[in-house]
Amino acid sequence: MTRKEAAVARTVLVTGGNRGIGLAIAEAFAKQGDRVAITHRGSGAPAGMFGVTCDVTDPAAVDAAFAAVEAELGPVEVLVANAGITDDTLLMRMSEEQFDRVLDTNLTGSWRFAKRAATKMMRARWGRMIFISSVVGLSGGAGQVNYAASKAGLVGVARSIARELGSRNVTANVVAPGFIATDMTAALPEARREEILKSIPAGRLADPEEVAAVVTWLASDSAGYVTGAVIPVDGGLGMGH
Ligand code: NDP
Repeated sequence: MTRKEAAVARTVLVTGGNRGIGLAIAEAFAKQGDRVAITHRGSGAPAGMFGVTCDVTDPAAVDAAFAAVEAELGPVEVLVANAGITDDTLLMRMSEEQFDRVLDTNLTGSWRFAKRAATKMMRARWGRMIFISSVVGLSGGAGQVNYAASKAGLVGVARSIARELGSRNVTANVVAPGFIATDMTAALPEARREEILKSIPAGRLADPEEVAAVVTWLASDSAGYVTGAVIPVDGGLGMGH
């Protein structure tokens, strides 16, 4: 039995943990007694959590955020790469800037955190990396070439890390949410929302807590043999992908 199997509190870092899905994930870890750090871009941290200001597109800020979390809470044992954006438009209208910005935030930003977390997880011979992708990363989405590419890319990132670090007891998994009730989906036009609801077997959007439950399980000792997996939390929307 390793040290971690004794159910001790862990140091968890959630990017974009100040709101939406990231906040629900951070709160779920805090509730089970873990030491939780979150990144934000100026909003501050929820009560009881350690907050660091960080734009995930800035490599120096990522490094500084990690250093601050390590100094305050110890090495990061669970990383949840959650921060993400959309910038939808049809392929023929999409600018280089729109494509690059979404990739830099969602894919490269997550890779920056994973890279920074890896050394200490390897040294500790225990670690959990969880990447928040999307059903769209597997199914594609009209008007979402940039977003879908970034979210599909996370599967390659996680599966490569799973192969590189598996023997060190570090797992890397992907959670692929469907439509979750957050600011991101609140921005959808009503007609599009109705259309989406019709296509979800569960017939509803999910609460962020339903994603958080899967993430905390992936970080638990009982999920130690789950790595390189893509786990949908989508009410059946992506079945077959
Ligand atoms: P929100 O729009 O509610 O929150 C996005 C989070 O990402 C915020 O914390 C935001 O910080 C942070 N963020 C965005 N850009 C950056 C950046 N450059 N640097 C640092 N932080 C940044 O989104 P959700 O909670 O809905 O989504 C969270 C994740 O889940 C995203 O990766 C999203 O793609 C994914 N997802 C969401 C789905 C949904 O239906 N809602 C479905 C499938 C996947 P700030 O507050 O500073 O803006």
